[in-house]
Amino acid sequence: MIRIGHYKFSAHRVRDLKVRWCCSSHMSKGCRACLYTYDDQIIKMNNDHSH
Ligand SMILES: [Zn+2]
Repeated sequence: MIRIGHYKFSAHRVRDLKVRWCCSSHMSKGCRACLYTYDDQIIKMNNDHSH
């Protein structure tokens, strides 16, 4: 679990060192915000939340 501002993201998929993190409201609210990390560095981020 990582936190960006007041949003929390949980790990969804791991391949090698790459991890996909989705907003914790992905399931409950359909929020599509997510980010990717590689070796603990953020490489891509969609911080557009629907809530
Ligand atoms: Zn969200």
